[in-house]
Amino acid sequence: MATVAAPSGLLPEVEAFLTGGPLASVIGGKDVAGAGGTMKTLDPGSGEAIADFHCLSADDVDRAVASANEAFRKSGWATMPPNERGVHLQRLADAIEKHKKIIGQIEALDAGKLLAHAEGDVQNFIDTLRYFSDMACHVQRRNVLAVSNHEAWTVRHPWGACGFIFPWNFPFLLIGWGISPALAAGNTSVIKPAEDTPLSAIYLARLARQVGIPDGVINVVLGTGAVAGAALSGNPGIRRMSFTGSPEVGRLVGEACGRNLVPVKLELGGKGAAVVFDDVDVADTAAKLVGAITFHSGQVCCDATRWLVHKSISKQFIDECRSRLQDVKVGYQLAGGTMMGPVVNAKQRARVLSYLEKGQKEGAEAVLPGGAADVPGKKGFYVKPALLAGSLDNIAAREEIFGPVAYVATFDNEDQAVAMANDTDYGLANSVWTSDLGRAARVAESMVAGNSWINAHNVFPRGVPYGGVNKSGVGGGVNSIETLFDYWRSQSVVRPL
Ligand code: NAD
Repeated sequence: MATVAAPSGLLPEVEAFLTGGPLASVIGGKDVAGAGGTMKTLDPGSGEAIADFHCLSADDVDRAVASANEAFRKSGWATMPPNERGVHLQRLADAIEKHKKIIGQIEALDAGKLLAHAEGDVQNFIDTLRYFSDMACHVQRRNVLAVSNHEAWTVRHPWGACGFIFPWNFPFLLIGWGISPALAAGNTSVIKPAEDTPLSAIYLARLARQVGIPDGVINVVLGTGAVAGAALSGNPGIRRMSFTGSPEVGRLVGEACGRNLVPVKLELGGKGAAVVFDDVDVADTAAKLVGAITFHSGQVCCDATRWLVHKSISKQFIDECRSRLQDVKVGYQLAGGTMMGPVVNAKQRARVLSYLEKGQKEGAEAVLPGGAADVPGKKGFYVKPALLAGSLDNIAAREEIFGPVAYVATFDNEDQAVAMANDTDYGLANSVWTSDLGRAARVAESMVAGNSWINAHNVFPRGVPYGGVNKSGVGGGVNSIETLFDYWRSQSVVRPL
């Protein structure tokens, strides 16, 4: 029996989904409650529980991995031609498209996202799934090798059961980025969503069942990171592992996979720089960077959180940013006119506030002090955008805050700007802002990270690899043809002539 009441004004399908009793994991096509007790998931905008769900024990998670392995061996998924698998995946994409409003509302409620952003994430999932399912039909899986006195070739096979652990900031979109290439390549999956945002994953597993994806191809396991997440990453039956989340947990997942010699892809945090030269349109650049740092309340791994600005325009740039940040309307994520919603939970709000305090204690100037925000009638987890300025030695300029907090520092010349951008342990994404495209390309290539953008931030066209280096990631990225190849193991075959 559900012990929560759905908020008013929801689509009837969303209300029924939320209140239909504690939600269960989906393993081998069946709903499985498991032995890990129950938890509640909250609406970050109201602070109230919106659904109950059952958590799995470690043994339950092991059963999900066994189910994914059995589906790999017996369901025909791994051996069917890619175009036949593609029919299944396109049907799933169609079903998601048909339910886009419902999933969008569920995601907005669970993750505290603005409705338009949540629906954008659902569309992104659909497009990613279609992209990889088409690609898998068209790439070469067999290559003949020219070797004297031998007939030789390589062939690519799916690995088997693939594990996926996801964070709470883009729950549905990241599942799409993760499982689309894996499934298109013929693998099966076990997905562990974050305990703060389990809902859209369950909705997905139910849709997959409805459209006839073979049982066991998409398993969703609910529970805590310490139990369900650790059981998944430590299971030797997983043939490939993908983790998206913090470097701290990424290290644990990497260790567990290392012990079992399971290949692992880690997509971790960031502390990106935006390098702003003195030949930009200051108002336009300020508007775009303010848009980026307030998008999803700054809970974006690849955000530009260090704004490195040429000294000669720094006053004008800071003034522009201050006034634009002040104008950002913080509010409930489903209310019209809201420009920035809540952060995901009380812990995240406390984290943001503590970095503001520690940063100022270490000498940062509070250009805009930020702090907790009040939204009338709502007891959610709101913060105001903040802008700090000062030396890059400051804790707020070095550590990932994961909130709407930007940090400005100034530079005199290009070499200094690049050195400042690279003075970080992270290496996910940076941007350079200038009207000199030669300089733009030079600086873009000199910043040590997986991704550089020019006169833009947070740009993800499918086909462009996206991933991190150093503390931001290991083992390849997402969203390109390389990602599909990651989900095939390569085998060589040789016959002496
Ligand atoms: P987190 O690392 O706390 O949790 C991520 C997932 O790991 C959750 O599902 C959690 O339940 C699970 N987990 C926790 N402990 C575990 C354990 N011991 N073993 C296995 N799994 C465990 O991260 P978060 O707070 O959910 O997300 C924020 C972080 O994610 C930030 O650092 C952000 O930069 C990063 N992130 C990176 C990308 C990327 O593409 N590089 C994308 C989104 C988020």
